[in-house]
Amino acid sequence: MKKAKLFTALILVIAVTVLLVVKTRHASEGEQSEEATETTTSSLTETTTRTQQKIKKVQIYVDPSLYDATVESESDYVQLYQTTDMTTVVGEVHRGSWVEYLSQTADLIQIKTDDGLTGYIPQANGEISEVTINDAPKTLSDLKIVLDAGHGGSDSGALSTDGTIMEKDLTLQTVLTIGQTLSDVGVQVSYTRQEDQYLALADITAISLDAEPDLFLSIHYDNYNVPNGNQGFTVYYYYPSYETIATTIADQLVSHVDLVSNGSRFGNYFVIREQYVPAILIELGYLNSDHDLQVITSDGYAAQVATGLLAALKEMVAAN
Ligand SMILES: [Zn+2]
Repeated sequence: MKKAKLFTALILVIAVTVLLVVKTRHASEGEQSEEATETTTSSLTETTTRTQQKIKKVQIYVDPSLYDATVESESDYVQLYQTTDMTTVVGEVHRGSWVEYLSQTADLIQIKTDDGLTGYIPQANGEISEVTINDAPKTLSDLKIVLDAGHGGSDSGALSTDGTIMEKDLTLQTVLTIGQTLSDVGVQVSYTRQEDQYLALADITAISLDAEPDLFLSIHYDNYNVPNGNQGFTVYYYYPSYETIATTIADQLVSHVDLVSNGSRFGNYFVIREQYVPAILIELGYLNSDHDLQVITSDGYAAQVATGLLAALKEMVAAN
């Protein structure tokens, strides 16, 4: 009996000792991982020394008499020739879009498009300018972002089915919430508008390029020709180079908002086409979808969008 009791006591002591050792080890692992997280977060909020470079870019010439930015037509495109004798057309480039400058002759400019097409255009079809390009932002504090609230003033944008909710009001509210969330963690935020104001599309791109941002983000709400015919958010890029950013944003948004994701897509929109900085346009749900409208107008939707975008931006700078 006595021997058995002693044995039981011994087993208990061993068991308690093992438990304590395991617990201590877990605690120190937890501390370590917490430290590691802290390091990552603080390094994302440090400001590093940025470098900029001046490079020559070409904007495909916009002839106002030929070009109506609101209507697509064949005259919106300029032909790209394979050689200087201009016998073979290798493709076409959209007016107002930006391409890489390679060289020039008295009559021609040799260019390279973002999707890798090289060729010649007549001098009259392109305007060469020296532009400032930022190196890739490595921290959130490095990041300069321009937020654009779609529509405004006399341009109400899309409407809810009952006509009471205007896209221009929602985009402004959303953009101001996003801006606050991003500023709070050190992102350098500027806006194309902060009040109910009409801006021409060319004004929007001019304001953005003046700010020399690392990213231009235009916020919109969608409309479909048939009520309830479509739903969800969509993230648009114009230049293939920015598809990765668009996909990162779509992937983060879907885990933060209660809308279906239509993923990232090519979109031929003026404000993302007529800029040489990374530019993305997001349609944050359909105003004439009953389901989407309920989500979009719910308390906290803008904050969820902001949190999703912040997560995407963290991913973006961490990858640089
Ligand atoms: Zn819109």
